Amino acid sequence: MFENLSERLSGVFDRLTKQGALSEEDVATALREVRVALLEADVSLPVARDFVKVVQEKATGQAVTKSITPGQQVVKIVHDALIDVLKGEGEPGALKIDNPPAPILMVGLQGSGKTTTTAKLAKRLKDRDGKRVLMASLDVNRPAAMEQLAILGAQIGVDTLPIVKGEDPVAIAKRAKTQAGLGGYDVYMLDTAGRLHIDAELIAQAAAVRDVANPRETLLVVDGLTGQDAVNVATEFDDKIGVSGVVLTRMDGDGRGGAALSMRAVTGKPIKYVGLGEKMDAIETFEPERIAGRILGMGDIVALVEKAQETLELEQSERMMKRMAKGQFNMNDLKMQLEQMIKMGGMQGMMGMMPGMGKMAKQVENAGFDDKVLKHQIALIQSMTKKERANPQILQASRKKRIAKGAGMEVSELNKLLKMQRQMGDMMKKMGKMGKGGMLKQAMK
Ligand code: GDP
Repeated sequence: MFENLSERLSGVFDRLTKQGALSEEDVATALREVRVALLEADVSLPVARDFVKVVQEKATGQAVTKSITPGQQVVKIVHDALIDVLKGEGEPGALKIDNPPAPILMVGLQGSGKTTTTAKLAKRLKDRDGKRVLMASLDVNRPAAMEQLAILGAQIGVDTLPIVKGEDPVAIAKRAKTQAGLGGYDVYMLDTAGRLHIDAELIAQAAAVRDVANPRETLLVVDGLTGQDAVNVATEFDDKIGVSGVVLTRMDGDGRGGAALSMRAVTGKPIKYVGLGEKMDAIETFEPERIAGRILGMGDIVALVEKAQETLELEQSERMMKRMAKGQFNMNDLKMQLEQMIKMGGMQGMMGMMPGMGKMAKQVENAGFDDKVLKHQIALIQSMTKKERANPQILQASRKKRIAKGAGMEVSELNKLLKMQRQMGDMMKKMGKMGKGGMLKQAMK
């Protein structure tokens, strides 16, 4: 999986991490190479372009510690961006199979590995989740395909619906439903017919089956070796039939792997599983963290940077505490506090954590005071100069206007922020004075 891409990227980053200081141009050159590597891996152009843009934005304006090189920092940013582009919602590989018997519709082109994947997933559901599974082949035009599913079923110990000659796919789907209900199965899987290309008949048949089965999951099986074609097929199937997730097969090959990176961004559908060989166990849940690790192959650096970031945050908050103890509180301090709040899940998140505050969190949300507000405030602080951040009282009306405009906001919002900083500063001063006498001493009096 991803060998070529992985090799290309490690070439780029090896060069980058060996350097000490990085100029903007170094980063830009490296990112151009990343973009080429992605395109060569058959990642779609808009996805590659967005990816590089996100990395570029994050790479500028990142605080760096001395213990890591800027190159290492870039590796970590790329790593996180990879995870973002791969990520879907919820647990990787999770299937909606409550309310037995839950129907799973399997769709895809002929030769994509649909029948094999049906059996692999059935085996997984049986072995890992202890589910009773029934499989049915709906490929009435290819008796060999129906036989193949029966043979695989016998091999893995999963029941298949007996084949009745001359029955149409909709009738088979209905029989599978009845049989699954009567037989106490948890899940029944419908392996629909595949064709070499998407055609009207294929779609009409799959749609008819979908309408009688009302599937909880419609999984599209696509050949990962086909790169962007796989993504195009997914878009088309989703438009015409609606899919809930994708299984990418043949990821054991040295394919270019671009489909994995483009799928989510282009189709909006998560990759739920990857097929890694012909054997019945050769299937894995699609886990963005692990895949990103495999693509980059730089786990050591990622871990190093994570550690360094923790240290940096610790240093920063220690420095802030010291300043606060002295009664100092400027815009840099406020910015750090706002960032911390976002990290902790914003206002709602913080209140949600405090007992009895759940209701208030809702009110805060209704009042429109959420992450967006925090981010706006941070944007305002970012449009100030270094001097202004340290001494916000020097701000004149004309500068205020410019700052608000630079952050895309109204001056009134900036004034609110300034007031907040002043109030917090006053509070710090009071606490600082208390600190001089010893806060503890005061409290014990
Ligand atoms: P269908 O026509 O879509 O049902 O495709 P099949 O399930 O019959 O698979 C076609 C061929 O691809 C078979 O030889 C499978 O063993 C093979 N195959 C399926 N999935 C994978 C995979 O993840 N990796 C590899 N290497 N081969 C696979």
